[in-house]
Amino acid sequence: MLEDNLTTDRPTFVTNLECSISGADDYAADEVHGLSREGRPLLVRYDLSGVKAAVSRDDLADRTHDFWRYRELLPVRHTRNIVSLGEAMTPLVRLNNLEREMGAGEIIVKDEGRLPTGSFKARGLAMAVSMAKELGITKAAMPTNGNAGAALAAYCSRAGIESYVFCPEDTPEVNVREIALQGAKVWRVNGLINDCGKIVGEGKEPMGWYDVSTLKEPYRIEGKKTMGLELAEQLGWDVPDVIFYPTGGGTGLISMWKAFAELEALDWIGAKRPRMVAVQATGCAPIVKAFEEGVEHAPLWDDAHTIASGIRVPVAVGDFLILRAVSESGGFAIAVTDEAIDQAHRDVARKDGFLLCPEGAATFAAYQQALMDGRVSRQDRVVLFNCGSGLKYPMPPAEQFLDRTKPIDYGALN
Ligand SMILES: *Cc1c(COP(=O)(O)O)cnc(C)c1O
Repeated sequence: MLEDNLTTDRPTFVTNLECSISGADDYAADEVHGLSREGRPLLVRYDLSGVKAAVSRDDLADRTHDFWRYRELLPVRHTRNIVSLGEAMTPLVRLNNLEREMGAGEIIVKDEGRLPTGSFKARGLAMAVSMAKELGITKAAMPTNGNAGAALAAYCSRAGIESYVFCPEDTPEVNVREIALQGAKVWRVNGLINDCGKIVGEGKEPMGWYDVSTLKEPYRIEGKKTMGLELAEQLGWDVPDVIFYPTGGGTGLISMWKAFAELEALDWIGAKRPRMVAVQATGCAPIVKAFEEGVEHAPLWDDAHTIASGIRVPVAVGDFLILRAVSESGGFAIAVTDEAIDQAHRDVARKDGFLLCPEGAATFAAYQQALMDGRVSRQDRVVLFNCGSGLKYPMPPAEQFLDRTKPIDYGALN
């Protein structure tokens, strides 16, 4: 019998939190925090030698297959505060047909669409809401392009925490409805995600909200970190050559980079790192622009638009963390057009039977582009992140109709 991670108590090792820009490390664990005094994300620090003494990577084999198996590297102190909807380990799926057709290297999709609420936002929010419960929070709020709000609503309802969600008015209908159905109070706002963020920022004092905006509380990063832990474990404690990550606020990219550093400190992986590639859409590419200009901060992108709504993020509070991870890893930032995203969406579905979300399709389009311009090679083993279920998004129409009361010309069905 595998040990159940949701009921087995395990030791925890959080020591403090640290400002990601100044390095000030005097932020106490087990207290409510937002951004640092400099207005930048806080990072959770662990006693990694304590972790190393308490658990080996082989110990994990005896644990159930969900992301709570990495408990010693996560912040929740008390098992009773875990808020879970079944955070499965997500599969790695090869795109064999496209590899052959393109004469490409190994293309592996990490399918995050299998998570609760149909996107990898569940990783971050399972952790943020568990920590909110542990810290006694009763009301949470966030701006969202859809998936984060759905995950916040679901986990908060489960935890008995009230949730308030603000989304751009053109957020996909399915997202707004799932947020409402899962118990949040949700509003459409005539603006973009940063405008919604302003509403949360200004409302948090009078309303008593805990601000769960991307990177504005410290624990979504820790939840998303499990993507890196899981990926390394699934590859036999190795890392791929390149990771293509669809980058909005960049939580996943930042947190995988943190995961690999912690794993190396534990000697669970070596010094090799994947090249981290930040993928954006040409209609909203602040990180790509900053990368190309060689600067660490990315100013607000005007008139942001793309069909991949999850990466329509005009300004990112963790911009410098994304850009540092990309540069330190020898990676790059790349923008793809909506046409290329749409084509990739169709190609991967038709040729490999894999229904990506548009943001996942953006990573495939970026891989194709990078293979052509030589920034990745056919020898590279690449991982693409499909961050949400393709079923949550609009699809091209399919309108053929058969009248069963008339004779059917079967030959015409070919
Ligand atoms: C949120 C989201 C992203 C962007 O993730 P970040 O970690 O914020 O950069 C990409 N794709 C989908 C489907 C998302 O919901």
